[in-house]
Amino acid sequence: MKVQIDHTLCEGHAKCMDRVPEIFEVRDDDRSYVLLETIPTHLEEDVRRAAAVCPRAAISCVDDD
Ligand code: SF4
Repeated sequence: MKVQIDHTLCEGHAKCMDRVPEIFEVRDDDRSYVLLETIPTHLEEDVRRAAAVCPRAAISCVDDD
């Protein structure tokens, strides 16, 4: 699974980073960045939950084929 963040939507609330700091990092520009290109299997469910609670719906999960 891969994750993308729409920086035109993200407002840096950091709910994603609070949930999965291994994957999301909110930087000084108040935008969240994805730290790993491919999400480790054991973190996929946490990342999906983070996407679900993002108040801006800025996180997209893309399943590998
Ligand atoms: S929770 Fe959503 S809006 Fe907030 S920093 Fe993460 S991606 Fe951006």
